[in-house]
Amino acid sequence: MSTVDSEGDAEDLRSRVREFLREHDHTVMEPLDFLRARFDAGLAWVHFPAGLGGIGAPRAAQAVVDAEFEAAGAPDNNPRRIGIGLGMAAPTILQFGTEEQQRRFLRPLWTGEEVWCQLFSEPGAGSDLAALGTRAVRDGSDWVVEGQKVWTSGAHVARWAILVTRTDPEVPKHQGMTYFVCDMTAPGVEVRPLRQITGEAEFNEVFLNGVRIPDAQRLGEIGDGWRVAQATLMNERVAIGGRPTPREGGMVGVVAQTWRERPELRTPELHDRLLRLWVEAEAARLAGDRLRQQLAVGRPGPEGSAMKLAFARLSQELSALEVELLGEEGLRYDDWTLRRPDLVDFTGREAGYRYLRAKGNSIEGGTSEVLRNIIAERVLGLPTEPRADKDVAWKDLPR
Ligand SMILES: Cc1cc2nc3c(=O)[nH]c(=O)nc-3n(C[C@H](O)[C@H](O)[C@H](O)COP(=O)(O)OP(=O)(O)OC[C@H]3O[C@@H](n4cnc5c(N)ncnc54)[C@H](O)[C@@H]3O)c2cc1C
Repeated sequence: MSTVDSEGDAEDLRSRVREFLREHDHTVMEPLDFLRARFDAGLAWVHFPAGLGGIGAPRAAQAVVDAEFEAAGAPDNNPRRIGIGLGMAAPTILQFGTEEQQRRFLRPLWTGEEVWCQLFSEPGAGSDLAALGTRAVRDGSDWVVEGQKVWTSGAHVARWAILVTRTDPEVPKHQGMTYFVCDMTAPGVEVRPLRQITGEAEFNEVFLNGVRIPDAQRLGEIGDGWRVAQATLMNERVAIGGRPTPREGGMVGVVAQTWRERPELRTPELHDRLLRLWVEAEAARLAGDRLRQQLAVGRPGPEGSAMKLAFARLSQELSALEVELLGEEGLRYDDWTLRRPDLVDFTGREAGYRYLRAKGNSIEGGTSEVLRNIIAERVLGLPTEPRADKDVAWKDLPR
């Protein structure tokens, strides 16, 4: 099957799912066994190759398959909980992993048995990721890793991490990096909670003290970590900003609902603002659909940055509008006890929580300023920022 352009192709897919559901009764099976069987039948991410959870179908086929499973009330793989695995680790492993790595990691990743986190940011290497200093030194068939990572979402529940390290300090910063899969249960991995503005600790500091990583867990060539990390980051922006949403899905839906249910809160000025943001949210949603169509025929490009940028701005403006709409009630905050959520929840809890959590939207997955640079340089073709450190060995950079 090469396209789902026609209703006939979509119908083929639907009958494939129905046949699977006839053979696997989700009302009696353990959810995990059901998900494993769905993966093995190639109906997990259908655009992946056969044997790796897919059938090599176009990306557009996924929506058809997911809708059919959902309509049947079948268990899903709780995609928000395993967002980093699905959105970032899986496409990177598919693009750069060996066959052995793909077979080892992709199935438990998709079923949610193994949760992933992303060990990229460091104190002093966030937007400028290529400045990172976590060292990996070769020792026989292993690498020994020393360093510190920060803002690691979900590290407290993760089994595996995607990790970027410095393996050659003698060459310019973009050239001396290598990318690994790190076992979060390995000796020397220490995870410490970091509290956010919301009061909860969704992310962590991660210390890597002499952690041994087998060379078989390297993704891509030695020294090619920047290119591998770029693939992850492009996918990350699409994963955060470009999720398929129904009309009035996400933050705009939450605020529109408050607007409808609470007529006593309305003013003409807030009405204007809500309408303007509603239209922008709808335009962003439709632009996201177009982006996904582009994705169906190629890899994520820099356009994903524009979606992530729009998502962050809208989320912040809408959550601020909701707090204003609710007046004093909007300023109430329910609970400051330390929570350690295992999933990202942008629209959960009450208005005050949503407002504070939205602050992170313009930082996580690349700051809005840096995304604007990417759009300026790589989408609009404007002159690039001066990069004086491009040809200087990493060890000679001022720190
Ligand atoms: C909720 C949340 C979850 C996160 N989860 C993870 C995770 O799971 N794994 C992970 O590795 N990281 C994670 N991060 C880290 C995130 O990716 C970084 O915070 C981000 O890349 C910014 O880096 P920084 O904090 O070091 O800020 P800096 O890079 O120091 O930036 C500071 C300010 O300077 C601006 N700036 C920097 N360079 C430029 C430039 N060239 N042009 C214009 N402006 C510039 C930035 O936009 C920003 O406003 C998370 C962050 C948040 C908030």
